[in-house]
Amino acid sequence: MWQFMGHSRARTLLSRSLEAGQLSHAYLFVGPPHVGKLTLALDLARAVNCQADRVPCGECAACRRIAEGNHSDVKIIGREEQHKVITISQVREMDNDASLPPFEGRCKVFIFDGAELLSQDAANRLLKTLEEPPSNVLIILLTSREKDVLPTIISRCQRVELPPLPIDVVRETLTERYMIDDEKAELLARVSGGCLGWAIQATQDGGLLEERDRRLNALAGLVHAGLLERFTYAAELANRFSKSREDVEELLSLWIQWWRDLLILKCGQSGPVTNVDRLSVLSGQADTLSTEQIVGFIRRLQDARKYLEQNANPRLVFEVLMLNMPQEKPS
Ligand SMILES: [Zn+2]
Repeated sequence: MWQFMGHSRARTLLSRSLEAGQLSHAYLFVGPPHVGKLTLALDLARAVNCQADRVPCGECAACRRIAEGNHSDVKIIGREEQHKVITISQVREMDNDASLPPFEGRCKVFIFDGAELLSQDAANRLLKTLEEPPSNVLIILLTSREKDVLPTIISRCQRVELPPLPIDVVRETLTERYMIDDEKAELLARVSGGCLGWAIQATQDGGLLEERDRRLNALAGLVHAGLLERFTYAAELANRFSKSREDVEELLSLWIQWWRDLLILKCGQSGPVTNVDRLSVLSGQADTLSTEQIVGFIRRLQDARKYLEQNANPRLVFEVLMLNMPQEKPS
């Protein structure tokens, strides 16, 4: 049984290739964080090593060992703690490993978790392996930042896109598989933006929703704040960005969701709102802002995201954003 939910196109493509014995030697799974890229990669690793007729069975020794992370032919390669990138020595080690026959299974599987993290040297070395792939080796690259992956690497892999899941699928999975009550499942499904992995993690780790609450409170407060407070916040964001790009990108997505909700309410609808647990604060803000202000700031947020991708000075980007954030008029 495939653990991977939804994405029927991706799963159908891989199942058909498996049945026809025509799997590519290298895949690139592209999709937002927590959408299920690693789950699908592990499904594929189980499918090529499964001992049953209908693969992946999920029950044979190979499937179980892969699920437990104990199969000696399936390796996940990511950034090591002491480095910012996946290094050439990690790729060299994989090359040596790949040149030996599988130890206990039929196929060696190397999963690169974060293809955008490959250093230039590491990517060039991997390119050689992708050009002359050893037999019985499957390489799966995962990325949520395809634009940061070397184009020559992308061209050597079969690309599989994993878009966010429909909100309904996330909600039903949470209620049916994880026994989450309807109200919480609805909130998590909407906030997850269709990334099931995040929603599942949030059911087990209350800290994720608490962190979201903190961020939304800060955001809601900024609309009333003066320039000094906003600039202090911009400096804080720039500092955080230097430590974790992903963290600040997530925050910007949260902001875009918030302002999109304001626009939806301004248009007199409430159905597709993401932050369903904040309807009263959102409605209050929507009443005091004009549609032009909301649309204008959504554009500013999208610009900010684009400038950060182009490596603009983060402090300047956040300061401009703060300058342009509409000020809520006292009602
Ligand atoms: Zn199996």
